[in-house]
Amino acid sequence: MIVIKSPREIEEMKTAGQIVADCHREAAKIIEPGITTREINDFVARHMTKLGGKQFTKGYNGFPAETCTSLNDVVAHGIPSKRALKDGDLLKLDIVVEYGGWFGDSCWCYAVGTVRPEASRLMKVAKECLELGIARALPGGRLGDITSAIQQHAESNGYSLVRDLLAHGIGRSLHEEPNYEHIGVAGKGIRLKEGMVFTIEPMVNEGTFRIAIDDDQWTARTADGKLSAQYEHTIAITSDGPLILTAQ
Ligand code: MG
Repeated sequence: MIVIKSPREIEEMKTAGQIVADCHREAAKIIEPGITTREINDFVARHMTKLGGKQFTKGYNGFPAETCTSLNDVVAHGIPSKRALKDGDLLKLDIVVEYGGWFGDSCWCYAVGTVRPEASRLMKVAKECLELGIARALPGGRLGDITSAIQQHAESNGYSLVRDLLAHGIGRSLHEEPNYEHIGVAGKGIRLKEGMVFTIEPMVNEGTFRIAIDDDQWTARTADGKLSAQYEHTIAITSDGPLILTAQ
């Protein structure tokens, strides 16, 4: 069942979303060669607490940290560690915050120092995929309008979309219905309605869409070791169109 949020509830969710956004704005200032992913995680954890937000991911199914830090070929769920960032790395920082019983969720992709042109092209296309998807989050439309726009843009640029990790509804729980992959056909899928709130979070791979999970049971990598980029927002469907709750 998809939980529909009232305009007032969406307004409340904005606060959680804006704490996530502020964490990204601040994290962007410290992401540079030399800092470890653990230090970035700890910085974000402190910042969200300072803003009154509650962390959720540490302890969730045993995940050991407040954020996910996924480097290069790591698609998602990377565990913060002593690994220092290097010039040319591509970092996906995924932040979840709970505030007032509501969740916000956004992942952003950061170029560390100067990345290869291929990496910056991948980042650009991944960000465009998110934007194209958001633009189709309209009441009366279909979920397939969003997913097909994303799929078409990624694949026409020679990239693939991860299928095994899903976008999700979000509200008083981090994961609600609908759960969906960023693959689809325009005009198909569930009807989009005012009050739906969900993430759009295409994971765009340079090579194969297939992923492999490390022995730590979390780290999801591209099966071929090529790069992956992801941008994610939490969005609400309103009578005025898509509202980006985690807008930076
Ligand atoms: Mg996320």
